[in-house]
Amino acid sequence: MIHERIYVTKAAMPPFEEYAEAIRPLWDSHILTNMGRYHSQLEEKLKEYLAVSELSLMVNGHMALEMTIQAFNFPKGSEVITTPFTFISTTHAIVRNGLAPVFCDIKMDDYTIDETKIEELITEKTVAIVPVHVYGNVCNVEEIERIARKYDLKVIYDAAHAFGVKYKGIGIGNFGDASIFSFHATKVFNCIEGGAIATKDETLINKLYDLKNFGIRSQELVVSVGANAKMNEFQAIMGLCNLSHVESNRIIRKVLVKKYRELLTDIEGIKLMDSFENTEQNFAYFPILIDADNYGKNRNDIHQELLSHSIYTRKYFYPLTSDQACFKNKYMSLKLDTARLCADRVLILPLYPELPLEDVARIAELIRNNKVKR
Ligand SMILES: *Cc1c(COP(=O)(O)O)cnc(C)c1O
Repeated sequence: MIHERIYVTKAAMPPFEEYAEAIRPLWDSHILTNMGRYHSQLEEKLKEYLAVSELSLMVNGHMALEMTIQAFNFPKGSEVITTPFTFISTTHAIVRNGLAPVFCDIKMDDYTIDETKIEELITEKTVAIVPVHVYGNVCNVEEIERIARKYDLKVIYDAAHAFGVKYKGIGIGNFGDASIFSFHATKVFNCIEGGAIATKDETLINKLYDLKNFGIRSQELVVSVGANAKMNEFQAIMGLCNLSHVESNRIIRKVLVKKYRELLTDIEGIKLMDSFENTEQNFAYFPILIDADNYGKNRNDIHQELLSHSIYTRKYFYPLTSDQACFKNKYMSLKLDTARLCADRVLILPLYPELPLEDVARIAELIRNNKVKR
């Protein structure tokens, strides 16, 4: 039997007619961008959905992070403690602001920054912590908050994976000084491309407005040196359409995750992600860790084997950002043993609402049968 290719994800799209109908008014107004009507509508709806007080839309998640860091005006050369187990964007956003990333190790149970190792990395130059809610797993926000207060540091969360996640009933965008989200096509919620900053700080939101729109306040007044990172109306409408399906999609994801968990438990050498108390998850990713000593084959072997069945898994996040050609040996870090171990073993399995349960079963079976029997 020939199977179609299965990718690690498939961009969520509303029914064609729904989007086509929704963009029709743009042909009357000819207002395509510059904080139009749909831009405002989406900001309001997202504030509600994410349960945050202030939110600013951006053209993408990377610019949301880069500009949020920029808005704090840290002295050049300052140090920012962050995790190397993330998408390259996190580290780029720090370095592109003229700051030095300081890499902290992660924890084995949830892959987020190891808060017990942050304090030993703090120096006189440290100005901020940029943790990542990787795979939608919530960082230890309480402890990070305590450290930040003690040393007077800013905390900017990369919440690109954590759309819709709640911790103890609180929207994930309420922690730290700011959180950024990505609405890229591959994320649980997309605006084709897009992003946002959530914060309680109204001054920060105003600064970001200036940064994303050339510092223009009115036709004849430019108050600061900004760039262009505005979300356009086509993106905003895609967001509005997708937002109306996000909750039902989350429930489907949950069912798929449950199935994977059922079928993949108790395979020697395969570690599934823990499920966490106090967290309302978004089921964005399904990572497994493969321990070759116990499974008999390593992560790359499974990756290859699944590929031969037209199943495209991804090694997020290998290599660590600190090991990438552009950053290697340039910045400070303590031992990154856990991060490196996870990077060597992790594999993200396909997960998206349209993925048939039969395919989940087939993927799980391949992983089970592929194990070297002893
Ligand atoms: C996707 C992603 C980003 C960047 O978002 P874009 O919208 O693609 O620019 C930043 N950080 C992490 C962890 C991501 O996964």
